Amino acid sequence: MQGVTSTAFGPAELLHRLRARVSSEADSPITHVERVPSRPGRVAPWPDWTGPSVRDAFTAQGITAPWEHQAAAATLAWEGTHVVLATGTASGKSLAYQLPALSTLAADPKATVLYLSPTKALAADQLRAIVRLGLDDVRPATLDGDTAREEREWIRQHGRFVLTNPDMLHHSLLPGHARWGVFLRRLRYVVVDECHAYRGVFGSHVAHVLRRLRRVAARYGATPTFVLASATSGDPAGSASRLTGVSVTAVTADASPRGATTFALWEPPLLPPELADPLPALPQAASSPPTSAASDFSDSSDLSGQDAEVIQVRRSALRETADLLTDAIVNGTRTLAFIRSRRGAEVVAAMARRSLDEAVPGLGDRVAAYRGGYLREDRREIERALLSGELLGLASTNALELGVDLAGLDAVLICGYPGTRASLWQQAGRAGRAGNEALAVLVARDDPLDTYLVHHPEALFGREVEATVLDPGNPYVLGPQLCCAAFEAPITRDDLELFGPAAPRLVEQLVAEGVLRRRPSGWYWTHRGRPDVDLRGTGGSPVAVVESATGRLLGTVDPASSHAMLHDGAVYLHQGVTYVVDELDLSDGVALVRQEEPDWTTHARDVTDVSVVGVRSYVDAGPVGLFLGDVDVSSQVVSYQRRRLGSGEVIDTRPLDLPVRELRTVAVWFTVSPEALIAAGVRPTDFPGALHAAEHAGIGLFPLIATCDRWDIGGLSTANHADTEAPTVFVYDGHPGGAGFSERAYATAAEWLRATREAIASCVCESGCPSCVQSPKCGNGNHPLNKPDAVKVLDTVLAALPSIPAQTPPPE
Ligand SMILES: [Zn+2]
Ligand SMILES: [Zn+2]
Repeated sequence: MQGVTSTAFGPAELLHRLRARVSSEADSPITHVERVPSRPGRVAPWPDWTGPSVRDAFTAQGITAPWEHQAAAATLAWEGTHVVLATGTASGKSLAYQLPALSTLAADPKATVLYLSPTKALAADQLRAIVRLGLDDVRPATLDGDTAREEREWIRQHGRFVLTNPDMLHHSLLPGHARWGVFLRRLRYVVVDECHAYRGVFGSHVAHVLRRLRRVAARYGATPTFVLASATSGDPAGSASRLTGVSVTAVTADASPRGATTFALWEPPLLPPELADPLPALPQAASSPPTSAASDFSDSSDLSGQDAEVIQVRRSALRETADLLTDAIVNGTRTLAFIRSRRGAEVVAAMARRSLDEAVPGLGDRVAAYRGGYLREDRREIERALLSGELLGLASTNALELGVDLAGLDAVLICGYPGTRASLWQQAGRAGRAGNEALAVLVARDDPLDTYLVHHPEALFGREVEATVLDPGNPYVLGPQLCCAAFEAPITRDDLELFGPAAPRLVEQLVAEGVLRRRPSGWYWTHRGRPDVDLRGTGGSPVAVVESATGRLLGTVDPASSHAMLHDGAVYLHQGVTYVVDELDLSDGVALVRQEEPDWTTHARDVTDVSVVGVRSYVDAGPVGLFLGDVDVSSQVVSYQRRRLGSGEVIDTRPLDLPVRELRTVAVWFTVSPEALIAAGVRPTDFPGALHAAEHAGIGLFPLIATCDRWDIGGLSTANHADTEAPTVFVYDGHPGGAGFSERAYATAAEWLRATREAIASCVCESGCPSCVQSPKCGNGNHPLNKPDAVKVLDTVLAALPSIPAQTPPPE
């Protein structure tokens, strides 16, 4: 049967049809098919403490009984136990906190509830859900940057269910706590929704905002119960306890029903040589002398922006996803494609629209793009059209991952591994309406981690998802947070315990710096104004990208990436439009750009140095050493290359005059003795290429073990390092003070390096490609790289590492 039908095929049939696009079974892009069985739902009776009006309101919504996990978490919260509910997408986590919170508001006319979400959109959705219940006297209200002054006043006086975000808490509610005294005194519950979003540096800041909230609430006599909701994650109790600073009990047994899911791993085929772009000659560093050290600065540019520049070895994942989306829609299957970047989502939607219109004129109208930043009305319209079947396909960024309620999907295409298994399952969980069978397909991008995963399904299936990593002990987070706390109320000796073991030393340091003052009653903030602390970064103010002709602000770039992305002459992509930077003004934090379409791209070159400040822990394995410690990273963007679009031919190299950037952070590194490398068959002249290639792949595989992506970390490899006096590979957190990533890598080093070795060894390319050892963010133009010798380096390390205990260096 050809053309459009209204009946969707089952997942097996659809998969069969998708597979039929390739000629022979041997060429099949499907590397693995996993069947995730269906699960019946298990309901529990309404807990006997449920307020009758609350129960009636839910019943009127068609909820006749809670699922077991909802009832279990709700009852723990009702009894005053801090609880985190960590279950899958669409398992009804909201009910678990709404039940105790609303029952409490009904039973105690004075009680109040504070709800926190990572995004404004989610808080708005929650508000609507609560309003819809039609309960008397709940007085829900959202409080965010857009809330008018008079409305804030009303919320302070009368609000009982206040929905806000950590930024508002940090910037407004806590510093102005005196005006919130009535609300805080009566605070019974703090709901932290989608709490897995609080990770890395941001998560560490939020952890202290919550500690400040507990401290301030206690001053008004309140000790609220925390109720957290999380996507499925490893060790949810540990992560939630670290986030809140209180001991949290986890409920993880998901009792909501699910249809079976067929999950396929899909590797786009290699392009025939005549279709592949010619391999650009690997350039020599022209202006800066090639050093033995190769470095990779951390930046956060749009991954898909690299698509045009990276040598195409396989069909691009975007194109492959667009084709799969097209086929699925032609088959009448309601399909959502997740794309990592906004531009990618627009591109996939456009490509699918074009092919659909070619197949059946007008069919292209049934696919749309969806991303964060859309207006609420537009989102509602898309959600409605998808539910009604007017829309059959959607290409979306992960804006849909958090909370937004989309029902009625048969299939999910995931273009590129989303970085964590938790996200992968969250996205895959979008498919499957009303218990029907669902299809999920992970389409691998041309990078080491994706390639590794489609060939190692055991790394995805039947494994626990990652723990959410955050580090409230980071002094670069804790110091500023202690200042905020001192501004809100003097810090007493008893308070210090709340902020963790590093707090006593840090307050003394802040006193020595003249920021805090010690008095008998505690530590005081000495300045007139409020401390200026940004929750979403510790690297200073972002650089604004401004179009000179119009004065329009296009966006911002974090300061760590600004030198490499916005130097004078840089080609800068913004939502698919190309700009050229006229001037980067670092003192004003502005880059002036103009729209232009040059036929070249630019690649910044940097010189990076790492020096070891101290070792926290190490493993001494004879010729191999593994270390965790504090390092100083200095890096300077020194020049950039212009390369011809398409061919990658180097046009010229131009010098830049930018200051050195300094970063004190945490690193994991390994050393191998030259003798061991030679014994493994690596010639000394090949040390730099071997180590550099191992470093690249190691960074690429890093997200396998820590909840970060490769843009959160940097690396450096060198054939002889001044501090270690040996061939060394460093990988460091790209945030001041570290974000917990290197600790994770150190703790799971054998697993991490083994996967890295496998990723390189199993890649079919000859001398290195983006799927194994090339890096899209190499500060050295991917030179030198030696793929076969990288395997020898890692084999040597792995042979020495297992079963040797870590040690802590004696204090000096
Ligand atoms: Zn390769
Ligand atoms: Zn590199």
